[in-house]
Amino acid sequence: MDQQTDPRTSPTDLPFWQTKTLEEMSSEEWESLCDGCGRCCLSKLEDIDSGAIAFTCVGCALLDGKTARCKDYPNRFAKVPDCLAITPEMARNSAWLPPTCAYARIANGEGLAWWHPLVSGTQETVEVARISVAGRVISEDEVELADLEDHIENWPDEDPMVPAEEYYQVESTL
Ligand code: SF4
Repeated sequence: MDQQTDPRTSPTDLPFWQTKTLEEMSSEEWESLCDGCGRCCLSKLEDIDSGAIAFTCVGCALLDGKTARCKDYPNRFAKVPDCLAITPEMARNSAWLPPTCAYARIANGEGLAWWHPLVSGTQETVEVARISVAGRVISEDEVELADLEDHIENWPDEDPMVPAEEYYQVESTL
């Protein structure tokens, strides 16, 4: 990547996610923070008493189950009326973002994890760490709303695998 256009760098030579607040990031930087895991595109259930959120393995109809990417990202708001744009405020306060989400991690001062493509240098680590839902979801088109409870998964509690040696490379240079 060209140094001038590399979103990982800032004028101070520290990566932007270590020097800028979520509000200060450019739209390119903001977009690059998404690791493409697809977890925010899963149906969730909220416990009416405790407010606890349970994630399911049921994805939005626009979620590509093989890649964990939105099938129509530019038009997602028009096609899915309850799709929400993530904001810094949401990143700080929303219980429906998984704790592994880069926006939530930055908002909580945790920085980016080893599997994040901006740290590892490859999208592959999101799958290696089993953060990506690719290949592990079904579509909401295939599930009755009343049966959602049968599809609860503990994604956010999954312990990301320890990175293999080759994935330390980029991280150790930061
Ligand atoms: S959970 Fe966060 S990092 Fe994962 S796809 Fe959604 S916005 Fe991107």
